[in-house]
This record gives sequence, structure tokens and C-alpha cells, in this order.
Amino acid sequence: MEDKVYIIGAGVSGLIAAYELEQYGYHPIVIEKSSEVGGRVKTLQENGFVLDVGFQVLLSAYPLAQKYLDMEKLNLRKLASGALIYSNGQAYRIGDPLRNWNILFPTLLSDIGSIYDKLKILQLNLSLKNKSLKDIFSSNEKTTYDYLVDFGFSTKIINRFFKPFFSGIFLEPDLNTSSRMFEFVYKMFGEGHATIPQLGIGEISKQLKGKLKHTEFVYNTEVTEMTNDFITLGSGEKKSHQGVIIASNTPSLINQEEVKWKSCMCIYFEVDQTNIPQETIALIADTEKFANNLYAYRDHSTNKTILSVTSLEIQNHTDQEIIDHVTREVKHYTGASTIKYIKHYRINKALPDRKNLKMTVTEKENRLSENIFIAGDSLLNGSLNAAMESGRNAAIQLINYKKKSLEISQ
Ligand SMILES: Cc1cc2nc3c(=O)[nH]c(=O)nc-3n(C[C@H](O)[C@H](O)[C@H](O)COP(=O)(O)OP(=O)(O)OC[C@H]3O[C@@H](n4cnc5c(N)ncnc54)[C@H](O)[C@@H]3O)c2cc1C
Repeated sequence: MEDKVYIIGAGVSGLIAAYELEQYGYHPIVIEKSSEVGGRVKTLQENGFVLDVGFQVLLSAYPLAQKYLDMEKLNLRKLASGALIYSNGQAYRIGDPLRNWNILFPTLLSDIGSIYDKLKILQLNLSLKNKSLKDIFSSNEKTTYDYLVDFGFSTKIINRFFKPFFSGIFLEPDLNTSSRMFEFVYKMFGEGHATIPQLGIGEISKQLKGKLKHTEFVYNTEVTEMTNDFITLGSGEKKSHQGVIIASNTPSLINQEEVKWKSCMCIYFEVDQTNIPQETIALIADTEKFANNLYAYRDHSTNKTILSVTSLEIQNHTDQEIIDHVTREVKHYTGASTIKYIKHYRINKALPDRKNLKMTVTEKENRLSENIFIAGDSLLNGSLNAAMESGRNAAIQLINYKKKSLEISQ
């Protein structure tokens, strides 16, 4: 294909856009500001440990993960279902309400929720099982907190289960995130597993890059301006183009309003022992704590036990203050006596903070000019599935437009 088509950004959305363009004969050029692919889906090697830049999971039920990823080759670690909840000085192991509502809080029922909550869980599971993703994303939106209250859940189960669990996923403590996202994530958890590749989440980006045969990558290069016909680079160089997909989540490039972002900090510790069973997510339900969710796993290369801790309380605190608080909390809750700090990552732009969450968009919504289309999770919702869908959708729209203009010119 003669047309010079560019993709700005080598995150998951940009890589999927490149893959789709290749399927139609294009040889796209990806311009990436950093030195590698992956964007927010990266794993780094630190002192021999393999650490994800932010704790995140791939939900195996994501329809587009099934379409684009070779799950077997990712060598996925399945997280244990259910969670360990620390509340009021106790640790409760709860079952997985999505897979088996009956095993939710089997023993210490009254400490997490009531019998009535159990029935509500069953009702929620059934209603979401029968609700399509399309229907979820066209439902009325409210905050997840209001959704749970309106659904009839007790304050106790909201505070002790839903808040810590979904705060860790939404990266905000108050469940202000759209109920569409809650329904989507809850359904995906119920229909598959939370997984992480054995060698880290960055394997996803590596695999997607490995599927590209005719894509050129230009690294360490920032795009600073864009018009329908030209791309301007940080160096001032201008490149003419016949099509661009902006997959960088930077609407400011085209003078549109900046996206708002949710932030978090992920801190890694090596510990001698922990009361968190391997591959299990632990949640701190007590209020005013710095650590929100903890995940214990065995590091593949060193065989040591690692604790990944996500903190949402990061505004107005220095990195060191957060690390100190979290270290004390890890000591208090997890039973570890030797806690060795390894590394932390503060991620200021972790998840887009937007309303009117979408599953996909029409051409009207992601086409900026004749030749420019937008991708990126911030267009739809903050998830790997959305990043993939946005890249797929932008590429198909660009391809269709090119086909039409070719037909007209013949
Ligand atoms: C801590 C954390 C936890 C998460 N948890 C989950 C989870 O559990 N499950 C889930 O499904 N999703 C999760 N996500 C969300 C998921 O990672 C994102 O939805 C997805 O990675 C977004 O991909 P993207 O391609 O849209 O954007 P990005 O990954 O942000 O990629 C954009 C790329 O564009 C580049 N770029 C930016 N500006 C320019 C420019 N001007 N010129 C050139 N290049 C540029 C950037 O360097 C970057 O590589 C999480 C994210 C974080 C950070």
C-alpha cells in the first residue's frame, strides 16, 4: 500500500491499530515518545526481579483479548478467586461471589455482609449474566456507590467488600466510577479469570509487537502537532501523511480538552512470609490506610515472595511518606517480619477519569478530520479491552475511508 499511514503511540491501542492495518496491506509507521512499546502495559527488570509498572490484571473473558492474544503463549498465572479482607484487626478469606455466590463469606457472615446481601449478590450475578456488553454500555449511568445502594446492598458489604475490591480496580477510593464500568468488570470477572502472564503484564505488549511484520517503529520521538496532512515532531521536523491514528491519549495534540486521570502508586517488597495465600488479592477495608490492595506472588526468576501493594492515597504526599506508611501497614497486616523495599512506581496517568463510558464509538466520535482518527482507552473506558477496541475501530474506519476514496477516484 502506497499511502503513508502513521500511528502515534505504541501502547496496546496503537499496536492493535497497526495489526489491523497490516491485515489490509498497510505498512504503518508507529511514532513513540518513549524507548519501547507497551505504554501503560510494561514490565521492568529491577535487581533481578520482574516488576510490572503498576499492578494490573488481564481478565480472560475480555472479548478482544480472546481475539488478539494467544493466551496459551502468555503462560498466564490465574489469580485465586475470592480475596482476603483485612478489617477491624481480623483477616477474612471470602469466596468468589461471582462464581459461587453461596461461598461468599461462609463463616463470618455477619462481619462482611448479611443474608440479605447474599441474596442480592445472587440477583446481581443473574442479572449481569443475562446482560450483554452492549446493554451494559447503554444503561443509565450513576456512580458505582449509588448503584450498589440502589441495588439494595448493605453499607457493611459495600464498605467491607465492594469498596476495597473495586477501589483497587477503579483506582479511586469512593466508587465514583460509572456503574457501566462496575457492571462490565463484574461480568468479566464472573465469566473468566483474573490473570497475569508469568513473566509480567508486559508480555502482552511484547506479544502484540511480535505479531507485526510490516510495521516500522520510530522511538524516542514525540509528536507535538498535527494537521490533516502533516505531523510535526519534537525536533521541528514535519512529515507529510495520508492518514494518522492518534493512539496516545493526548487530545491536546489536536487542541482538544485534556483527559482527566486517576493516579496510584505501586510499591514492591520482598517479604520472608505473609498470611496472604499466593496468587490472592488482599484488601484493606479499614479506612484511612495508605495500602488499598496487596498481591503476593512468587517471583519467577528469583523464587522469592514478592508483595505488590497499590496505594491510592497519593495526592499531597511525597513518595517516601507513602512508602513509610505502606511499610508499617504491611508489617501490621500481613504477618511479614522481614520486609525489604524493592522499588515503587508513581503513575500519575493510570486510568482515564471520564463519564459516559463506552464500549465503542462511531466514526463521528473518533474522526477528527478527513485523515485523522483517534484511538486510546480514554476514548471509551480504562481497560485493556477498551484500548484494543479503540485501536481496532480506528484502523477499520481509516481503512474503510481509504477504500471509499479509492473507489471514487477510479
Ligand atoms: C496501574 C494501572 C492499573 C491498571 N489495571 C488494569 C487492569 O487491571 N485491567 C485492565 O484491563 N486495564 C488496566 N489498566 C488500564 C490499561 O493498562 C490501559 O487501558 C491500556 O494500557 C491503555 O492503552 P493505550 O494504548 O490506550 O494507552 P497507553 O498505554 O497510555 O499508550 C499511549 C502511548 O503513546 C505514547 N505517547 C504519548 N504521547 C505521545 C506523543 N505526543 N508522541 C508519541 N508518543 C506518545 C506513550 O508513550 C504511550 O506509549 C491499568 C492501568 C494502570 C496504569
